[in-house]
Amino acid sequence: MIKRFSANAEDTEDRARRYNRAHRYLSLAGFLLSLAWLAALLFLGWSAGLRDAAWQVSARYSLALAVYLLLVFAGGTMLGLPLGYYAGYVIEHRYGLSNQTVAGWVKDEAKSVVLGGALSLAAAELVYALLRWRPDWWWLASWAGFLLFVVLMANLAPVLLFPLFYKFQPLADEDLKQRLLRLSERAGARVRGVFEWKLSEKSRKANAALAGWGNTRRIILADTLLQQYTPDEIEAVLAHELAHHVHHHIGKSLALEAAAGLAGFWLADRALRTFGSLPRFGFRGIGDFANLPLLLLLAAVLSLLLRPAVNAISRHFERQADDYAFRAIPDVGPFISSMEKLAAQNLAERRPNRVIEFIFHSHPSMEKRIRRAAAYGETT
Ligand SMILES: [Zn+2]
Repeated sequence: MIKRFSANAEDTEDRARRYNRAHRYLSLAGFLLSLAWLAALLFLGWSAGLRDAAWQVSARYSLALAVYLLLVFAGGTMLGLPLGYYAGYVIEHRYGLSNQTVAGWVKDEAKSVVLGGALSLAAAELVYALLRWRPDWWWLASWAGFLLFVVLMANLAPVLLFPLFYKFQPLADEDLKQRLLRLSERAGARVRGVFEWKLSEKSRKANAALAGWGNTRRIILADTLLQQYTPDEIEAVLAHELAHHVHHHIGKSLALEAAAGLAGFWLADRALRTFGSLPRFGFRGIGDFANLPLLLLLAAVLSLLLRPAVNAISRHFERQADDYAFRAIPDVGPFISSMEKLAAQNLAERRPNRVIEFIFHSHPSMEKRIRRAAAYGETT
């Protein structure tokens, strides 16, 4: 029996390794593809060509910009679609992690494309209006707009965006609600609600999160978690999520995003002034929207460079939340068993390569989290 069990565990670990590797390769390929698209727009003169075509459609700046953006956005979306389908549908089904039908996947994809397109259009109209109106200060004013948007989204996402893709309802389980209440009282923190997240309609994974900011902050628990984990294990997960709240991790993440955004907009201004006048790009001044691919290319490279730092900070937050959870629950046993279950259910890599963990992982590996919990358990 023991032998068979360990063979299964090894099998699961191997599957997890292959599954995560596939996702890494696909996201790398997707990233390179979008870089190639932006570079082609810039260096082959396509961007200037699309700009000219857009001006043919309308002589009004804002409309011409909208037409140009539609063309650039549509091209990028079409290029990324096959990889997105492979990563989001084929791989998930191959590893038995998805319940979605093709039609369901297409519907979700269509919603995010429309949503992404609308938000990109609003952002582009604002940034280019500022670029033309205040060419010296556009970057600072755009950053202020970005800040407002990020804060609004943090606040509104759980009530506006999440319900577009998933159903939510207030947690019905009275016993669990009482446990959370006791946990938050001890923490001196008030959470505005706990919601059951109907994840099982689409996925076989389990998950939980702290979401929202200000009057919308809430803990969301996947129904897959509620169905398959013991009350003690769910309490351990809740304690971890509550800790993110106690340590103000969402507010801190927003502050970091704001700082990175400021640096990004300043660099964008520098880039437009340094490279914008190169004749090969064919831009007509700083307010020419044909320079959009240059800005997007810069944003892509910056986010790539920042990624290890962002993940290091995230792992630090996660360790803090785990440490808090160990103290908040009577015994670390259920925390450890919940991690074991999550790793198996979500095909998480328990022992990822150290370099890969450093670059790509927002959470410490399951192995490290379990070891840390066990070490805490031994001291008490
Ligand atoms: Zn967490």
